[in-house]
This record gives sequence, structure tokens and C-alpha cells, in this order.
Amino acid sequence: MAPQSKDVVIIGSGPAGSAYARLIRRDWPEARILMVEAGPQILPQTGAHLDNIVDLEERGALEVLAQGGDRTPRIPINKEEWEARRAGGFDASQLRRSGLFIANDADPAEDLFAGFSAANVGGMGTKWSTGTPTPSLTERVPFIPAAEMQAAIATAEMLLGTHKDPRAGDPTAIAMRERLGAVFNPGRTPDRFVQPMPLAATPTADGLRYHGTDVVLGPMVDEPAEIFTILAETACRRIVHEDGVVTGVELCRPGSDDSWFVAAGTVIVACDALHSPQLLHASGIRPQALGRYINDHYIISQISEMTTDVPMQAMSWIPATETFPFSVTIAPASLNTMPLSPDFTGQPIGMGFFVPADISPDNRVLFDDTRRDWMGLPAISIRWKQSDADRARLELAKGIARQISGIIGRPAPGFATIVLPVGSSLHYQGTIRMGESDDGTSVCDRNSRVWGFDNLYVAGNGVIPTVTATNPTLYSLALASFGAAEIAKARRTH
Ligand SMILES: Cc1cc2nc3c(=O)[nH]c(=O)nc-3n(C[C@H](O)[C@H](O)[C@H](O)COP(=O)(O)OP(=O)(O)OC[C@H]3O[C@@H](n4cnc5c(N)ncnc54)[C@H](O)[C@@H]3O)c2cc1C
Repeated sequence: MAPQSKDVVIIGSGPAGSAYARLIRRDWPEARILMVEAGPQILPQTGAHLDNIVDLEERGALEVLAQGGDRTPRIPINKEEWEARRAGGFDASQLRRSGLFIANDADPAEDLFAGFSAANVGGMGTKWSTGTPTPSLTERVPFIPAAEMQAAIATAEMLLGTHKDPRAGDPTAIAMRERLGAVFNPGRTPDRFVQPMPLAATPTADGLRYHGTDVVLGPMVDEPAEIFTILAETACRRIVHEDGVVTGVELCRPGSDDSWFVAAGTVIVACDALHSPQLLHASGIRPQALGRYINDHYIISQISEMTTDVPMQAMSWIPATETFPFSVTIAPASLNTMPLSPDFTGQPIGMGFFVPADISPDNRVLFDDTRRDWMGLPAISIRWKQSDADRARLELAKGIARQISGIIGRPAPGFATIVLPVGSSLHYQGTIRMGESDDGTSVCDRNSRVWGFDNLYVAGNGVIPTVTATNPTLYSLALASFGAAEIAKARRTH
């Protein structure tokens, strides 16, 4: 059989890969695009969000299919583990996350970094919380002109179907934002005031409908197979290249040694911030910065008790600014499995307080060529150290989290202000970072093209080179728009 040939091959079907597909299609209608995904397609609707399934048992049974090689259900944490968590002690049980798997050797040593991934059509986009806040000016790539970046963010909002106030009119949330705004708004521009958290979701009569990659792909989900196909349960083991030109990809079924070749005009590696550098490494593409600078913003968690007659439903956001380097999400907490103390009578409110971390080349993902993971690729481990400045910043942030809790209501009795284990943000960045020049501190240029290659691009949060606190998916899709536009412009031949 003659080898298959495609104009564009995208490895990974999460939001980043899907954004490339959609934007290349916009500018290059005839492009023959193949998307390759190591995990299965879980729902009949390509890349649809699992939280739209109301039945929790049904949802749980489907989620395990995204757990890569280990599909055993994650048992919910028990009462004793909750007690340990509320008291603020280190709690390895927090590393159990249904529908996700830990891609690295998670050794419970000091400075543990748990690198979570999901493997299914839609990637983590089938279970993300859909928060699409915009990055502050200091979080944005300094060498991309501000107006270009702003336009790219608008494109990303369009792709994700962001709604700026998806539960508009929630009186309790509005009143709470006013109280928070009185403290945090002075000195900010209105776009950075305390506000509703923008979500990639559509309000409906039955509540919110959450957007997965079905929305990012839009009409592409119905395209004929000749011009767009997603090959599920298929892993890319190697990008084949010669003298800076990619000629195609070697694909396999996870668990099988048989492989086949697909010729490709352009390849985009959109495998998440751990698996994208893994695939480049496995393909012998190893720029000095590959896998280095891994960055995860910390999460401080604080449960508050709010006294209210009208339960709050909406999510709120305190944006990061130049002088407030934190991003804070406030939302009703679902504590159905959590033992509450008897004097807890109000509404439980959760706070996810993102705290930036210092970036260091020594914090890095490593690959072991002598051991294989479930896809047959080199095993992943992570070396990571917390800096003294991080520790100081976390202490400052904990104080602000308690202050915010006091404005919401009060810190819930029995709940400590805790720092979740590193990796809990699921927002890993930097491992395939972009740079202004090929000086050894970056993997790709500002259009995400790998240095030294004509037709190889990388995508996803790993491309982000800056210190951040804000949820990154909108930002990484904005950066993807530059690469997609360049590919269509350079490669369209029809
Ligand atoms: C519970 C949860 C809540 C979240 N909430 C938010 C939020 O509110 N806001 C936000 O901004 N972000 C959030 N995130 C993070 C968000 O989901 C990710 O930023 C986003 O999905 C990253 O997109 P991606 O396409 O780069 O990678 P992914 O979505 O991880 O997709 C990568 C895909 O590549 C596949 N792959 C990997 N290696 C290979 C290979 N060799 N061959 C073939 N396929 C491969 C994987 O199987 C995977 O399906 C959340 C994530 C989770 C799990």
C-alpha cells in the first residue's frame, strides 16, 4: 500500500491542536488535515465536554477512559484523608484525580511535581473548568506587539466560545464582587476590575453547556474524511525529518510494536507540556531548552463560609495586574463528600488562588530512553525545586487569601489555608517555550516554529515563556493563531 500523505498532521487533539486545525482550515480551505490522538474518542460527539453529562456515575465511568494506560477508577478520598487535608498537612491523596493520569514518575519526595495528563479525543478539554480569563500585560510575551496579541486573544475567545458573564444577574455574586471591588479595584483599569469569570460555556435553560474541542473544531467535526480525520487510539512515536525538514510521522497503536508512516507537509506537535517535549526528544530533536523551564503556578485553596439567603451560583475572578501578580477564582464549592463541622451553617465558597512561580532552566522534564511509557515513548520524570522567593510569595498570598475570605464571609471553620501539591494547577508551561532568537533558551520562534525547522511547529501551554498566574488555555490558543496563520500562508498551494 502506498504511504498516506497529508498537507498537515497535528499530533494531539486537545484545544491547542484543535485550534490549529480550525484556523488552518479558515485560511486554507482545501488543506488535507490529519489529527492523531493517543487516547480514545469517549463520546459520540467529537471532543464534547464530559461535564455536560449530568449523571455522575455515567460521567465517572467515561472519564476513566482518558487515563492512558491505567483505567482503574480513582477512589474518592475517605474521611480520614479529608481530615488530614483540612488540617493543612501534606496530603498525597490529593494526587488522585479522576479522568487524569500522572505522566511522570511521581515519587513522593520533597519538591514533588505531579504532572497530570489526559488522553482522549479533546485532551483535557473534555473536562477542563472552561475558565478563559485574559492574561495581564506582564504575563504576555514581551516580544509580540501588544495590538497583535490583543487580536490573537480575540481569536482565541472566538474559538473557545468564551462568554464574559455566563451566569449574569446572580445577586449574591454581584454583591460579593462589589465588596471585593471596594478593596481591590482602586488603581486598576476597568478591564482588570473584580468581575465574573469568563467561561467557555453557553447559558441554557438547563444551566451552562460547557465547551470542549467540539466547539473549537466547529463545522470541521462534520467534514469528509478526505480533508479532515481524527485517528483515535493512535500515538505518534517519531517525527521523521532530514536537514531541518519534516517528511512525516511514524504512528502506532499504543501497546503494539507495529507502526506505519504518514507523509506530511507540515507537522504540529500539540501533545501537552509534558508529551510534546517527549515526542521531540524521541525524534532526536533536542534543542538545549527542550523540557527545561517547566513552570506551574501554585494553587492556594481556601474554603470560606458565606452567609446568604440566596445561594451564589456564579464564578468570580480577581485578575492579575502589574502590581497584583495573582489570579483568584471564587466559586461555590461542592463539598458533598467533605465532612463539615456542626457550626458551618452558611454556603461553602471555594477559592483557587493562583500564585506565580519563579522560572528556572534547572526545573525540567527528563526522558529515559531505557524505559517506555504506555505509548511506547521514553519514560518521563520531572526535576523541580521551589525557590526561596516562591516560599515568600506563597506566605504573602496566603495572607491575601485569608483577607479575601474575610470579605466573602469568613474562613470556614476547620479549613486551613493550604497550598495544593505542585502540579495541581494542570497548567504546566515553558517546556517547549518560544523565544525572540535562537539563543539556547527557547525551542521555537514567536510563531511556534521549532528553531532550525521549515515545517515543524509546537503548540499548547508549553510554548508560554513568561511567568503567569492566569489560567493559560486562552493564552496558548492565542499564540497558536500565529503559527496557524503562518502555515496556511506558507504552505497553501492550491
Ligand atoms: C479538571 C481540569 C480543569 C481545568 N480548568 C481549566 C480552566 O478553567 N482554564 C484553563 O485555561 N485551563 C484549564 N485546564 C487546563 C486545560 O484543559 C489545558 O490547558 C488544555 O487542555 C491544554 O490543551 P492542549 O491541547 O495543549 O493539551 P491537552 O488538552 O492535554 O491535549 C493533548 C492531547 O495530546 C495527546 N497526546 C500526547 N502525546 C501524544 C502522542 N505521542 N501521540 C498522539 N497523541 C498524543 C494526549 O492524549 C492528549 O489528548 C483544566 C484541566 C483540567 C483537567
